[in-house]
Amino acid sequence: MRKIVIAGNWKMNKTVAESVQLATEVVTAARDVSKVVVAIAPTYLALAKVAEVVKGSNVKLAAQDVHWENQGAFTGKVSADMLKEIGVDFVIIGHSEQRSYFGETDETVNKKVKKVQSLDMTPIICIGETLAERKDGRLEGVLTMQVNGAYAGLSADQALRTVIAYEPVWAIGTGVTATDQEAQEAHAFVRGLLTKLYGDHVAQSISIQYGGSMKPENAAGLLAQKDIDGGLIGGAALKADSFLGIVTPGESLNK
Ligand code: PEP
Repeated sequence: MRKIVIAGNWKMNKTVAESVQLATEVVTAARDVSKVVVAIAPTYLALAKVAEVVKGSNVKLAAQDVHWENQGAFTGKVSADMLKEIGVDFVIIGHSEQRSYFGETDETVNKKVKKVQSLDMTPIICIGETLAERKDGRLEGVLTMQVNGAYAGLSADQALRTVIAYEPVWAIGTGVTATDQEAQEAHAFVRGLLTKLYGDHVAQSISIQYGGSMKPENAAGLLAQKDIDGGLIGGAALKADSFLGIVTPGESLNK
């Protein structure tokens, strides 16, 4: 059975003090959550303090990015060992903002995935098409390249220790959400790609989150879809009540 994983990506929002406050509220609000895996991804700067807040709770800690090298002259970057040391569980890799503003490629995604896994953290691998790509009929081609690129050289055992976030770029931060059906179709396609790479057992075991303007109002419909196993949440994760408003329908699902 696949896990439902709901992660809040706080992006470049919240000071350290505000992050501690929000993390405290999420930990309190999520104390009875047992089925959904809940994670929060503050900025690098706030990770260590937030790690103290989530310690011993059922809220997991996520980082928003990582570098694939161990150490050295990589100004502005943070290594996987540094994240591991402070208790990070998940690392978001290949977010569309990283891809479009900071030169992330399928190749760098693949290197980061391998590095994170070597330290027993779980990568959340982000994939998704732009509006132009969807309109040009390139959705399947783009997803195929991104999945094949991210999983290049990964064994079935490694693949089992990944999470995918399907995030149509046109839905991120725009208020426009993919319909339940659009999202389900893309998720089923991605699972089909995983089946081709690793067979049915592995493909059926990997959680595929939806991301893109997910909020309490549309979460139940999206989460009820057969191949949607959670969400990567941006804007709606910046307040504990709206974030939990997405977690709660996930808890009551009988999937
Ligand atoms: C995201 O950044 O991954 C995201 C899905 O953002 P939002 O929920 O704001 O669209």
